[in-house]
Amino acid sequence: MLSTRVKSLLDSLSLEEKVGQMAQLTINVILEEGSFTEASLEKIRFAIKEKKIGSMLNVLVHAYDLPTWDGILSKLNAVTKETEHQIPILYGIDSIHGANYTQDSTLFPHNIGLAASRNDELVAKGARVSALETRASGIRWTFDPVLDVGRQPLWSRFEETFGEDTYLCGRMGGVTIRAYEGDDLSSPQNVASCMKHFLGYSHPASGKDRTPAYIPEIQLREIFLPPFAHAISLGSSTIMINSGEINGTPVHGNKYLLTDVLRDELGFEGLVVTDWEDIIRLHTRHKIATSIKDAIRIGINAGIDMSMTPFDFDFVTLLFELVEEGQVPISRIDEAVGRILTLKEKLGLLDNPSLEPEARANFGLNKYKEIALESARETITLLKNDEQVLPLDGPLGGYPKVILAGPCANSLAPLHGSWSFTWQGEDNSYYPSSTQTIREALEDKLGANQVLCMADDDWESPQNYLLPHSNNFDAVILCLGENAYAESPGSIDDLELDPRQIQLANKAFITGRPVIVVLCQGRPRIIRAIADQAKAIILAYRPGSQGARAIVETIFGDHNPSGILPFSYPRWSGDHIPYDHKFSAIVQEPTPGNIVFEGYKPQFPFGFGLSYTSFEFSDFKVSKQEFGPDDKIEISITVKNTGARDGNKAVELYSKDLFASVSPSQKRLRAYEKVALKAGEWKEVRFELGPEDLSFINTDLERVTEAGKFEIWIDEFLEEIEYTG
Ligand code: BGC
Repeated sequence: MLSTRVKSLLDSLSLEEKVGQMAQLTINVILEEGSFTEASLEKIRFAIKEKKIGSMLNVLVHAYDLPTWDGILSKLNAVTKETEHQIPILYGIDSIHGANYTQDSTLFPHNIGLAASRNDELVAKGARVSALETRASGIRWTFDPVLDVGRQPLWSRFEETFGEDTYLCGRMGGVTIRAYEGDDLSSPQNVASCMKHFLGYSHPASGKDRTPAYIPEIQLREIFLPPFAHAISLGSSTIMINSGEINGTPVHGNKYLLTDVLRDELGFEGLVVTDWEDIIRLHTRHKIATSIKDAIRIGINAGIDMSMTPFDFDFVTLLFELVEEGQVPISRIDEAVGRILTLKEKLGLLDNPSLEPEARANFGLNKYKEIALESARETITLLKNDEQVLPLDGPLGGYPKVILAGPCANSLAPLHGSWSFTWQGEDNSYYPSSTQTIREALEDKLGANQVLCMADDDWESPQNYLLPHSNNFDAVILCLGENAYAESPGSIDDLELDPRQIQLANKAFITGRPVIVVLCQGRPRIIRAIADQAKAIILAYRPGSQGARAIVETIFGDHNPSGILPFSYPRWSGDHIPYDHKFSAIVQEPTPGNIVFEGYKPQFPFGFGLSYTSFEFSDFKVSKQEFGPDDKIEISITVKNTGARDGNKAVELYSKDLFASVSPSQKRLRAYEKVALKAGEWKEVRFELGPEDLSFINTDLERVTEAGKFEIWIDEFLEEIEYTG
C-alpha cells in the first residue's frame, strides 16, 4: 500500500521521470579523477535533469573524508531542487564491515569471524556503529548484509558470509538487519539494509566468483532460501540480486525467483535492486537476451525495480521505449517506482535530504574502538594449543623474545580484507595511521627489543618469507594467510596455502622453538602440511581495525579466546563436506563389504574452538519426550567454568532426524547462546524447540516435520524425542 503522498507523487510523474527513478548510477560517471570539477556539475545536471535518474552509489577508487561526502551529496541535492518534483537521490553504499567508504570510520571483523563469536549482541553493536557512521556520512542505504550461505570455501566472498550453516547465516543476518534499520528509517541513527545476493550466489560450481551454480530446488529451499525468508520476516527494506545463474537461468531474468518466490511466497514488499551492470550482462555474459533492450525487458518483467546500470544512461531510454511499445506493462513501472519512492519517504529523504547534524555527531566516537576490539576478541578461534604453549610466557615468567614473520605480520590489509577503504582493501596507504599491524601491537606489548621482525607491508616482498637471523629468541609467531581481495580478483584455483608460506613455516620448525601460527584469511586455506608441527594455531579471519591488538592479547592471555568455527575447515583442497552432511557422505568402503565412517575428516570440524579454561556441562533436561504440532519442548543445561580463568562459552543445540522421507542430515544446528562465565561460575542455558525447528524440505518442495524420532543434544548430552505428527 502506498502512502497518500507517494501515490500522488507517483501519479504526477511522467513516464520519463518514472523510468529515470529506476536507474542507479555509479558516482564514477560524475567525478573527474576522484574530485569535483565544473565538468562534474554539468554531468550531475545531465544525469538528474536530462536523464532523471533516481539513485547513485559508491565511491571512485577510495573512501572519502566527511567534507568530500558533504560536497558530493549537497551538490546532488542542489540539482534535484532544480527539477519539477524535487525528488532527492537515493544514495547507496557498500558499508560491509563498518562505514568502509568513509575515511577514519571504524572497521569491524568480517562476517565470517563474527559468526565464530556466536554472539548476537556483539554483532548488533558493530552493525549499529556501521549504521551510525554511514548515516553520519550523509548516506541512508547500505548494501549489506550478505545472507549467502558459505558452502563453497574457494569462493572469494566467503569472508562476507556467516559461514556454512543456514540457521547461523539467517540468525546473524537478521540481527544485523534489525541493528541497521531500527524501528524508524527516518531516524538519523538508522539506515536501510539490503539483503544480498538473492539467491544461490555463494555456490558457484567452479568456486569462481559470478560463475554458474547448479542447485536443485530442494537444496535451494533447504539451505539458501531460509536466511532471506527470515530477514524478510524481520522487515528488511531492500534486496540485491545474484549476478550469477542457477541451473542455466540467470537470476536477474528469473521471474519464478524474483516474483513468484520473493513476492508471492515470501511476501517481500520492499525494493529489488540489481547487482553491478547485471541487466546488461543478461545480454553480454549470460547470452539469454539478444540485445541490451531485450535484457531490460526480461529483467524488469522478471521483477527488478531498480537497475544498477551503473555507467549506462541508455537504460532509461530503452525502458521508456519498451513501455511505449507495450513490451513492459506500465503497471510494472508503477509498482517499481512506488517502492522506490516509498523507501525515499521512509528514509526521510522526501522531507529533508540534507546532511543531518544529529547524524554527523555520531561519527568517530571513541567507544566504537572498544566495540571493534570486543568484536575482534570474540571472533578469534584457537584451533590448536599443544602442551598449553599459549598463553606465551617468557623465561622466569617474564616476556619472551619472539621472532615475528610472515606476510600478515606487518600489514593492515590482511587484517581487514575486502571493502576496506578501497574495494579490494589491499592498499595499505588508505588505512588510518592509528590502526596497528600485528608487529606494532606486539611491540607495544613486549617492547620493540623483544620482537625480531623484518616483515613489511608489501605482500610480495621477499622479506615476508624469511626469518631474521638470530639464536636469541624463545618462540616464533608466524602470521600467515591471505592478502586482502574482493569479488572476482580474489578468485583462486586451489585452497592450498601459498608454498612460500609453507616453506617459511618449515624454516621456523627447524629452529626447534615453539611456532605459533596466526592465520589472517577470508577462507580456509589448507594448512595440513604445517598443522602438526605448529604448537598453536590461532584463526583470526579478517578481524578488522582492532584485530592486531586482539591477536596479541590472545597470544599472551590478556584475552581468553572463545570463537568456534562457523564452517568445516577442510584438510584437503578437494575434500569439502559440510558438517550437516548426510549419513551416506561419511560411509566409505575401502574394500568390498568393509565399511568405515571416515567421510567427514576436516582439519577442524564446524563448531570447534579451544579456550584457556575448561567447561563442564550437566543437568541436561528436556521437558517432553513426545510432542505434537502445537507443543514446544524446553531444553536446559548447566554449563560451568571449571578452570582457573574467566571465559566465554558458545553453547550449541543440535538435532538429527533419525529417519525421514528425504535423507536427513547427520547434524543440524538449531540454537545457540554465548555465555560469559567467571572461573568457577555456572549458568543454566535454556532453549525452546517447536516442530517447525525440526522441519525440512520434502520432495514436493514443501516444508514439513514428519512424525518420528529425533535426537537432540548439547555437547555430550543427548536425548531422544518423538514427534507424533
Ligand atoms: C557486488 C555487490 C555490491 C555492488 C555495489 C557488486 O560488484 O557484487 O555486493 O553491493 O557491487 O558495489
